[in-house]
Amino acid sequence: MKCIFCKANSDGSISIEHILPESLGNKEHLLPRGVVCDSCNNYLSREVEKPILASGIFRLIRNDRQISSKKGRIPVFGKTDNPSLPDYRVMGRFIGKIGIEVLAQRTQNVQGWNEEIVNKTGLDELRNFVRFNMGKEDWPYAYRTLYPVNAVFRKTTRHLKCSMNMTYFTQRGMSFISFWFYLVLNSL
Ligand SMILES: [Zn+2]
Repeated sequence: MKCIFCKANSDGSISIEHILPESLGNKEHLLPRGVVCDSCNNYLSREVEKPILASGIFRLIRNDRQISSKKGRIPVFGKTDNPSLPDYRVMGRFIGKIGIEVLAQRTQNVQGWNEEIVNKTGLDELRNFVRFNMGKEDWPYAYRTLYPVNAVFRKTTRHLKCSMNMTYFTQRGMSFISFWFYLVLNSL
């Protein structure tokens, strides 16, 4: 198998990739060994996911909802802390990473999926932006708040913890795929 980010042979890799970070409560959206090589897994966790999780707004939500990190720690959010948004560029890379990984997750049962994704040059610009921070321009994204940070959910209501999907559409002869994901951080 080849890694979907760096395209290197990943047969010896042992990392199981979490499409959304484990520290956001994700235990179900996973990619098997080798889809993302150990080196890319480590890099993305350190340089992309970690700064997002450490940003003020994510710490506030994780603290409020008591969502512990992989190591079992609840992030601290003090009275003087600022619920700042994550760095715009890094957040774009974070969403791009999720997008490429969702594509792999949704196609992984189709024969030839790995070559198809690795060889698809149309994915290179996004892949290189996510993995190598390449490209002068940021990848724009939109966000909105579905619930206030301190929203209280009734126990009888079912809420997805996190979800993501792809939408494919064609406009004026051009094809687009848009990726979206949302989080409802709910510890109930
Ligand atoms: Zn790799």
